[in-house]
Amino acid sequence: MAARKIITVFGATGAQGGSVANSLLMDRTFAVRAVTRDTSKPAALKLKEAGAEVVSADLDNEKSLESALSGVYGAFVVTNFWDHFSKEKEVQQGKVIVDLCKRLGLQHVVYSGLENVNKLSGGKLDVLHFDGKGKVEEYFQEKSCPMTSVRLAFYFENFLTNSKPQKSKDGKSYELVIPMCDVPMDGISVADLGPAVLSILKNPKEYIGKLIGLSAEKLTVAQYADIMSKVSCKTIKDAKIPPEVYEKLPFPGAQEMANMFKFYLMVPDRDVALTHKLNPNTKSFKQFLKENKEAFIKAL
Ligand code: NAP
Repeated sequence: MAARKIITVFGATGAQGGSVANSLLMDRTFAVRAVTRDTSKPAALKLKEAGAEVVSADLDNEKSLESALSGVYGAFVVTNFWDHFSKEKEVQQGKVIVDLCKRLGLQHVVYSGLENVNKLSGGKLDVLHFDGKGKVEEYFQEKSCPMTSVRLAFYFENFLTNSKPQKSKDGKSYELVIPMCDVPMDGISVADLGPAVLSILKNPKEYIGKLIGLSAEKLTVAQYADIMSKVSCKTIKDAKIPPEVYEKLPFPGAQEMANMFKFYLMVPDRDVALTHKLNPNTKSFKQFLKENKEAFIKAL
């Protein structure tokens, strides 16, 4: 039997890379080389148990990246802006990866990209954690490195953590503080990324060169809140907060997040139909929340 093609999976101990690594390991068409900075952490040990080759590499250490990418057919690449809050660093990490993938002859890279909002808005709006990934997408194209970009929508998982509903002043109900006015917002469970990436890797001719916006569905904040109310049996409403008020909220990254929502208000190009073609089991928000009901209620 021919040896399986190897895919290096970055961020394999995290949400995106973890979903990709697990899908590939379950499917078994490809062998998985999982990247982490700490091969002794529980998530890394679990990947090893599931059949992955777990290797240590750091996006800031080119030598370690070269060995993680040597001898493989392809890669899934994600960088984590929220580790450092620096667009320049994210671009630097991405460019080093592109150059290595090109030099080492990788045949297909699935890159977790996003739009270069600065460019799209003619310099009027900066969304640093988007713009850097957009620049890296452009660099992949400049270098003719065979790449498919997956641009993920807002994770449904955010509603259990950093974007969970906030207690109202009356103490009895909750408000969903997302500044989208009445414009529908794309969302997806990050756990549904893996099967979509697997489909892309299995069909390189169809998807190399494509920039794919992944979204399970588009709902208004009022619709998200309504589903939350029905599933949790609590009263949850749209806070109807404008981006200009949201950006002044006292949490790190409030301005950056507000800028992202301003871009979402420009209705980015996310492809719900293609997302369901790539992963027919992509969950709706209602399905996601029912499956995570306990965690959601606990988070409130
Ligand atoms: P996550 O769950 O926090 O995981 C981060 C992963 O990155 C970990 O596996 C970590 O591995 C790895 N990592 C971080 N720094 C590294 C470095 N220097 N070298 C090697 N590996 C490194 O993050 P995620 O949610 O999968 O991905 C985060 C990215 O998703 C962000 O850039 C964000 O902009 C993007 N995104 C988020 C959303 C959303 O709604 N939240 C939507 C679209 C895109 P180790 O710690 O094991 O080394």
